[in-house]
Amino acid sequence: MTNILKNYDKAELKRLDNAHHMHPFTDHKGLEGEGGSRMIVRADGCYLYDIDGEKILDGMSGLWCTNVGYGRKELTEVAAEQMNELPYYNTFFKTSTPAAALLAAKVASLLPDDMNHVFFSGSGSEANDTNLRMARHFWQLEGKPNKKIIISRNNAYHGSTIAGASLGGMSAMHKQAGLEISGIEHVQQPYWFKEGVGMDEDEFGLVAAKAVEDKILEVGADNVAAFIGEPVQGAGGVIIPPKTYWAEINRICEQYDILLICDEVICGFGRTGNWFGHQTLGIKPDIVTMAKGLSSGYLPISASGVGDRVYNTLYKKGGEFYHGYTYSGHPVAAAVALRNIEIIEREGLVEKVRNETGPYLAQQLATLNDHPIVGQTRTLGLLGAIEITNDKAAHTRFEPEGRAGTICRDNFFARNVVMRACGDVMVCAPPLIIDKAEIDHLVATARECLDATAKELG
Ligand code: PLP
Repeated sequence: MTNILKNYDKAELKRLDNAHHMHPFTDHKGLEGEGGSRMIVRADGCYLYDIDGEKILDGMSGLWCTNVGYGRKELTEVAAEQMNELPYYNTFFKTSTPAAALLAAKVASLLPDDMNHVFFSGSGSEANDTNLRMARHFWQLEGKPNKKIIISRNNAYHGSTIAGASLGGMSAMHKQAGLEISGIEHVQQPYWFKEGVGMDEDEFGLVAAKAVEDKILEVGADNVAAFIGEPVQGAGGVIIPPKTYWAEINRICEQYDILLICDEVICGFGRTGNWFGHQTLGIKPDIVTMAKGLSSGYLPISASGVGDRVYNTLYKKGGEFYHGYTYSGHPVAAAVALRNIEIIEREGLVEKVRNETGPYLAQQLATLNDHPIVGQTRTLGLLGAIEITNDKAAHTRFEPEGRAGTICRDNFFARNVVMRACGDVMVCAPPLIIDKAEIDHLVATARECLDATAKELG
């Protein structure tokens, strides 16, 4: 990277980016008007540095992934060692590598007692594709081939491949390219602030869970393979379900014999104050999706934790499962992920989130509740959200919906702090190493940005 910067000046890099680089989730027309993307050239701890030398507090851990923060030399060293030793080999056809074996064992040890196996993929989307195939294949092997439907929620995010985007409940994504694929049903999300106005939160949690049961009864339990859900919907706006929700979902999945797929791509690896969100929220998964914090984003790798019931049918009863990716269990990514988990353990980052920084973020973010355009703040561990509203009682949005969030996000960026806008919800997910002074800075900047946003909205 440094060499690249030596050979190209800033303007040229931006020109090349504009001319050739198709960015994910970006309106290119808007980008050109703004003179191109902000180019990030290096990072350390919780901070990014852009091409102009500006220092930026990363309140989002990249895309919710750099749990151990940036600049970890031991991760780059372990990657170099593994690359020199064995840069690549696959895990198909009865071969393996030490890194993949050790990582599988380590991840299994963090998962529930009855979940002892791990399947590796390259990204969260691929892992969810894997889970969909596994769930349907499982029921075929169980002699119930009609159990194919996967129930998900509106406004869920499960990735961007065709299956991932179909499993997700993002209406904007569904409108493009002929989604979604067949056999996926979406039901109400447990989003009390937006959909439970006037209702007791716990009561609303039961209503949202009942939407899953109603769907099962509508399509027939004999046709449903699985329910998939993020413990806390991340991209949907850090939606923390009411306490009653997940207990009821556990009951429903058990009663109708439906697999529960817990998408921990964001909630995993310490984010909620436990290793996994399902531990924090008392969810009983059959399959767990992991990515992001698994390697803190240093290299792409994801995993599906597979419970004994599913494993025994798939791999013992079923024989060969015709599924896998060239990079399943990539040795360099696996070695980095293994060391990343060691760092989280050694530095007590899960406990730090649970006992120290999580409660502190909750306390500090709550100081924004008195702001005229804030309807609610909420946190779980180091996941945080600020609801922007034009009516604190009715929880309604400024028109057009989404504009307030975009204005607020741009205000953050102009002040060298990253928070993301999910519609009109400002969300944060800082690296798990963030300290109290950095949280103070994040929250103080949030107040400034909310003031500026309120002014701009008039
Ligand atoms: N699942 C969840 C909950 C996510 O938040 C994401 C990405 O943000 C994904 C799946 C998809 O992961 P990836 O972008 O690595 O494909």
